[in-house]
Amino acid sequence: MSNFDDFLQANERYAATFTKGEVPMPPGRKIAVVACMDARLDPAKFLGLEEGDAHVIRNAGGRAADAIRSLVISQQLLGTREIAVIHHTDCGMLTFTEEQLHQKLHDDLHVHAEIEFLPFTDLEQSVRDDVDALRTSPLLLPDVPVRGYVYDVHTGQLHEVN
Ligand code: ZN
Repeated sequence: MSNFDDFLQANERYAATFTKGEVPMPPGRKIAVVACMDARLDPAKFLGLEEGDAHVIRNAGGRAADAIRSLVISQQLLGTREIAVIHHTDCGMLTFTEEQLHQKLHDDLHVHAEIEFLPFTDLEQSVRDDVDALRTSPLLLPDVPVRGYVYDVHTGQLHEVN
């Protein structure tokens, strides 16, 4: 059986006890979280979030540049007024270079991708870079606090990066 079929069965169980149908669209805790898509991260669980609390914007690495479109919508249309950036230990973004992935795409798919994949070599510096990018983005509100964190996939602990 494929995941697709499993999903529908799991969802039936979820919906059977669902009680959050009247939660408003704007995030109740007025925060947007930018986090890596890594399968080992469950931000709702490790941050104590419930349905309706926050926007959780996920991409490879939790990179700021990839989240701007969603953050503008989050702030301008849905009222979020804090941003948390969360990268993590053992991130896949530490394991390849821009050149390697472009070469692989060229070899496998015969395409020249006109995008940056944004890998990094220094985990804490990648958090600082993305916090700075969001604090200074002309598309985001200048007075919104932005803070950065590293999540440890081996301990489940989060620590702030200053
Ligand atoms: Zn990652």
